[in-house]
Amino acid sequence: MISTPSDYGELIALNLPPLIDAIMSKAESTARFLQTSGDRAYCDDCLIMLMGFSGPDEAEQVTSGLGGTDGFLRELGECCLCHERKQTIRAR
Ligand SMILES: [Zn+2]
Repeated sequence: MISTPSDYGELIALNLPPLIDAIMSKAESTARFLQTSGDRAYCDDCLIMLMGFSGPDEAEQVTSGLGGTDGFLRELGECCLCHERKQTIRAR
């Protein structure tokens, strides 16, 4: 039960790092996957299947995070797997 701010801090200390770790490690494995895929672009939906994301929200969180970095390009394009034209991500 959360009764004081310090209890709340404890809850965050207990629960948040694994959550962040899980997202970070998925971001890292997605980054590695894209880097080994050359210039092939993948949509979020295909990455959900490939990387085992829990759903579109998590996929979006990871791909938009990666897309904001220098190493990756998030753009409207054709996914190399489903060949649909949508938001994709690929390594630069
Ligand atoms: Zn796709």
